[in-house]
Amino acid sequence: AKPVVAIVGRPNVGKSTIFNRMIGERLAIVEDKPGVTRDRIYGTAEWLDKSFHVIDTGGIEVDGEDEILRSIRVQAELAMDEADVIVFMTDAKAGVTTADQEVAELLYRRTDKPIILAVNKVDNLKRREDIYEFYNLGLGDPIPLSGAHGIGIGDLMEAIVKKF
Ligand code: GDP
Ligand code: MG
Repeated sequence: AKPVVAIVGRPNVGKSTIFNRMIGERLAIVEDKPGVTRDRIYGTAEWLDKSFHVIDTGGIEVDGEDEILRSIRVQAELAMDEADVIVFMTDAKAGVTTADQEVAELLYRRTDKPIILAVNKVDNLKRREDIYEFYNLGLGDPIPLSGAHGIGIGDLMEAIVKKF
């Protein structure tokens, strides 16, 4: 079976944008199980000679800090259960948030699976400075991305396949 990669993170950081960049047109056909697949989309990505499944999580809109946190925790649980590699997505424009810290801690404490820290919305060189604070999450080197401009996708793919 192909390795599974799950993308988790707060709403609006750009998970779905990056997911679409990763899979191109290869959206997986998923069994229609109401309540089960509603909150995640599966796709297939290819990089060099490697092929893997990607899960985009957090599709359901949630409101309020508590509900957002609860929803990310559920995503993180799902990723820790189902994925071989977890991509934890953050946002350079927003900086490190409390929710980011909570999720980072949860992942750090609860799984031995490889975690890749990605920082999206690094749209220009000036924003590159904004990635340094993400080292504080304790998840290693952040990978700068811009889903909007298609920057860094190759670096992300490279980092992922290295973990298989
Ligand atoms: P998700 O909720 O994490 O899946 O985030 P989305 O992919 O839906 O993106 C949330 C918003 O951020 C949308 O308005 C996107 O257009 C915007 N966005 C995504 N990637 C980037 C990026 O690299 N730079 C900027 N400036 N905006 C982005
Ligand atoms: Mg989304």
